[in-house]
Amino acid sequence: MAQCEVCGNDYDKAFQVVTAGTPHVFDSFECAIHALAPRCEHCGCTILGHGVEADGRFFCCARCAGQAGESGLRDRV
Ligand SMILES: [Zn+2]
Ligand SMILES: [Zn+2]
Repeated sequence: MAQCEVCGNDYDKAFQVVTAGTPHVFDSFECAIHALAPRCEHCGCTILGHGVEADGRFFCCARCAGQAGESGLRDRV
């Protein structure tokens, strides 16, 4: 049994996600996404796909990156 570190739910099917060597325990993908997914700096949505990264800033798409002042980015599909 493990406890979700986001909502505290004690769930027998909880799973572990390791990011940069640090293990995290979640009961659902929703909680994992809430805790780990980066957010678009322009529109604030959760980035679940590849997204785009520029100078350490994350965006959900090239359009958001462009509107936030990053140029020359293309969606990586
Ligand atoms: Zn949870
Ligand atoms: Zn966006």
